[in-house]
Amino acid sequence: MGDTATVDRTAHRKAAKDFRWDGVEMRPYKEDERALYKAITRQVLFSDPNMAGELRYFEVAPGGFSTLERHEHMHAVLILRGSGHCLVGDEIKSLGTNDLVTVTPMTWHQFRATKGEPLGFLCMVNAERDKPQLPSAEDVARLRKAPAIAAFLDNKPKA
Ligand code: MN
Repeated sequence: MGDTATVDRTAHRKAAKDFRWDGVEMRPYKEDERALYKAITRQVLFSDPNMAGELRYFEVAPGGFSTLERHEHMHAVLILRGSGHCLVGDEIKSLGTNDLVTVTPMTWHQFRATKGEPLGFLCMVNAERDKPQLPSAEDVARLRKAPAIAAFLDNKPKA
């Protein structure tokens, strides 16, 4: 079920320095080795067989990025730290602390941190979810036809 092998129902977890939490493990972002990404960590904050959703904290290091992907499940994202940009569908948005991002089913999406600071965000997902799909060469070519998206994918987004 979801990301957890064991159920831990600790009532209170103290926040530690730098967006860490007592007893929450820092995990690799992805197990899928086909996926292209850079400098990103994952912490699963809430995951329980009795809940339909999971809440994770991701942190993209300066200049890093998440995988460009799409899937049937949705993401509900709250930016907690730093700044960056995201691609959602055909749009590039600049991101700042406390912004909200909704990724609807089968929408291409990717998050990128600005060069000077990390981008940290909460991401709520279904506990039971489909595997992300990666773009084909044709998908990337179609996305790159928009100059703003090409600049984003080259990590040169305009402000
Ligand atoms: Mn995703």
